[in-house]
Amino acid sequence: MTPPPANPAHGANSPAARDIAHVLHPYTDHKAHREKGPLVITGGRGVYVSDENGKEYLETVAGLWCAGLGFQNERLVQAAAEQMRKLPFYHAFTGRSHMPLIELSEMLIERAPVPMSKAFFANSGSEANDTALKMIWYMNNALGRPQKKKVISRIGGYHGVTVAAASLTGLPANHKLFDLPIAGILHTSRPHHYHNAQPGESEEEFATRLAAELEEMIVREGPDTVAGFFAEPVMGAGGVIVPPATYFEKIQAVLRKYDVLLVADEVICGFGRTGSYWGSQTMGMQPDILTCAKALSSSYLPISGVLVNERVYEALSEGSSQIGTWGHGYTYSGHPVAAAVAVETLKIYDEMDIVSHAAASGAVMQKRLREAVADHPLVGEVRGIGLIGAVELVENKAEHRNFDPAKKVAAKLVALGEEHGLILRALPNDSIAFSPPQIITPDEVEIMVTRFSKALDALSVQLRREGLA
Ligand code: PMP
Repeated sequence: MTPPPANPAHGANSPAARDIAHVLHPYTDHKAHREKGPLVITGGRGVYVSDENGKEYLETVAGLWCAGLGFQNERLVQAAAEQMRKLPFYHAFTGRSHMPLIELSEMLIERAPVPMSKAFFANSGSEANDTALKMIWYMNNALGRPQKKKVISRIGGYHGVTVAAASLTGLPANHKLFDLPIAGILHTSRPHHYHNAQPGESEEEFATRLAAELEEMIVREGPDTVAGFFAEPVMGAGGVIVPPATYFEKIQAVLRKYDVLLVADEVICGFGRTGSYWGSQTMGMQPDILTCAKALSSSYLPISGVLVNERVYEALSEGSSQIGTWGHGYTYSGHPVAAAVAVETLKIYDEMDIVSHAAASGAVMQKRLREAVADHPLVGEVRGIGLIGAVELVENKAEHRNFDPAKKVAAKLVALGEEHGLILRALPNDSIAFSPPQIITPDEVEIMVTRFSKALDALSVQLRREGLA
């Protein structure tokens, strides 16, 4: 197969040409990339990033839902530099420790949404979720019930891309292309009222039906074989799906009945994103295990955390004498420089009262997005809570019917977004995500919504011109 020719618009030796020649990108259509080339980002300022030509874009998704403090925070730079001089690396295996690890663990346990006992660290959300899964498996081995190992997550959920985390993820692109999921990982329905509720079904009725479906699955599999349930408080990459009223209350009643642990994946929802410090608080979840990452360090360095409650910790610690030492950990678990940056990030969040700030800007975002685009002929639903939202594009508003994916409508809007000074992110079902840095101000929200609204109008014109709508 001959690859398509490189685009001559990418001058020889330009960053674009060098990228095309050497970089294998994550989540990218490699062939299309040869033609289109990269958007090379070279700098940042608050909620804006700029490209190699100096053009500034408002980052509507904080990179990958992650740069909570935006793209230029000097205190985080200082925290990293100081720690690099003091102790650039040490590990935490076999009981070794260091001050950033101790301080960060203390701070996270203090801030946890429910009483938590201990904190473990990894480098990414995927690794944090793999760790949570292995904790559940190890714990049940230690408790002498080795058959209790299956875990349930949701269709549309996103938990990462390592082999176990990708299995927990409930999106087709992460499964069928890689022969996943692995055995023992099951998926139940997503709580997406807009698409999955029956005609006339209220949010509460829908939640009751989903809880009944979960209970049937647990009973069918055998309650003594089901150990855990993974859920994001608000599903992010699966489309920004805010669960219907009473959903987690009903789901948790089922989990408690069958002694199934709840893992809250707070990788996106933590640190003020949904209007509370944790998404678990917004959604009334009482997790046994909580995973977090991304805004934990404002993404200035890679670090993720796993918080466990006393019951899980007790089983893990009993395990050492019962079945053998907890043989799990990463070279960089609690890396001192990443941990020092996370400590500084959490201090800044406290000082600026990130929760109130994000809740105020989030309320403006929810209101203004609805006012500006909910009635637009291309918009099926505007949804979200706090500083996380989505605008879903549809071909038929009354039937909630999306465009044929071949029309690539969301990708066209992302391209128009760039022309209008916005970096946009398209999710499944032609949904455009909004998850700007938590530091965004109401005035910046206004700029974001105005630019988006103009890009959407430009999309209508383009679709008509191309005969697609
Ligand atoms: N969980 C959630 C909810 C996520 O959104 C993501 C990443 N977007 C992950 C886990 C995986 O994190 P990472 O890409 O750092 O492995």
